[in-house]
Amino acid sequence: MSKKILILPGDGIGPEIVGEAVKVIEALQNSHGLDVEIEHGLLGGCAYDAEGDPYPQSTQQKAAAADAILLGAVGGPKWEAIEREMRPEKGLLRIRADLNLFANLRPAMLYPELAAASSLKPELVAGLDIVIVRELTGGIYFGQPRGIEGEGDARLGYNTMRYRVDEIERIARAGFETAMRRGKKLCSVDKANVLEVSELWRETVTRIGGEYPEVELSHMYVDNAAMQLVRSPKQFDVIVTGNLFGDILSDIAAMLTGSIGMLPSASLNEQGKGMYEPVHGSAPDIAGSGKANPLATILSLAMLLRHSLERGDLAGKIEAAVGQVLANGLRTADIAAAGESTVNTSEMGAAVVAALQ
Ligand code: NAD
Repeated sequence: MSKKILILPGDGIGPEIVGEAVKVIEALQNSHGLDVEIEHGLLGGCAYDAEGDPYPQSTQQKAAAADAILLGAVGGPKWEAIEREMRPEKGLLRIRADLNLFANLRPAMLYPELAAASSLKPELVAGLDIVIVRELTGGIYFGQPRGIEGEGDARLGYNTMRYRVDEIERIARAGFETAMRRGKKLCSVDKANVLEVSELWRETVTRIGGEYPEVELSHMYVDNAAMQLVRSPKQFDVIVTGNLFGDILSDIAAMLTGSIGMLPSASLNEQGKGMYEPVHGSAPDIAGSGKANPLATILSLAMLLRHSLERGDLAGKIEAAVGQVLANGLRTADIAAAGESTVNTSEMGAAVVAALQ
């Protein structure tokens, strides 16, 4: 039976970059025997405009029926002034929670051709290949109580960072499993010197480590981890951490690679269903101009094929095709060095499709 992929283009550059990934899917259907059905849905600002809800029921139903979801990005200035519950980003948080996508895998890999694009010295980042496993459905972004209360000078804003043992156990296992498929090194990042929630985190990760004797486990405070990522990033293989720390560290890792337009991500639940999306946002500043780099989305499709559709063979082909177009010198504006000529979004997509053949 064919697998179902739900496509959620979203807002801003979302439809442009997802359009290129769809061309890659079609090429794989035509020439590599990929057996999938594609459906489209609305998420984010476009869904609010059309149906009055950033994660409408129509999308909830399609998401429940899909084997995997490919998302562009959501958000933009158009929706910044509407009530918080209806903002595009809320739709994103809701679909992650609805599908229980608790594990966010963000690889940060530097293609050798782009070593000069990093803000770090090429020798520090050349050959960089790390994965950050971020807890995505708990922690301070969801913890209750939260709010703003009081009047005048006494107004008080507060949030709560909390993790239950079972939430820590499952993300720890996701971290260890990822490490087992790679270099067998896992660094757990927390703030156990200050936060009780981190004390429980560290104790639990250490206990789960007993199930993975082959993996070398270390612990690091988040402030040090931020420093180490820019000082000597290649010391890491896999990092596992909570929602807030992972949000920040994965953006640092993104910058190490030179372009946020190159980085894919996967968010998985316990059944292996996943939502796959580029790390970047909807880039309203370049939407509609043909400048968006579609490679992060195309590489997200590769992760989708590997993690949710068991087609690691086709994932490898896409990754090789991306390597090939970079080796051939094709660059979108975000990854071009000064003076280098550039291609637009659809030319980059077409080049990947051609390299697949
Ligand atoms: P952004 O990632 O959209 O853009 C940051 C910078 O990177 C911009 O200069 C942009 O032009 C550039 N950029 C991003 N993706 C690119 C690509 N594929 N090719 C070339 N250049 C690219 O972050 P932002 O500007 O902080 O946020 C814009 C909107 O996106 C906001 O509404 C934000 O809430 C939303 N956002 C959504 C997601 C998501 O959907 N997962 C993630 C982050 C931000």
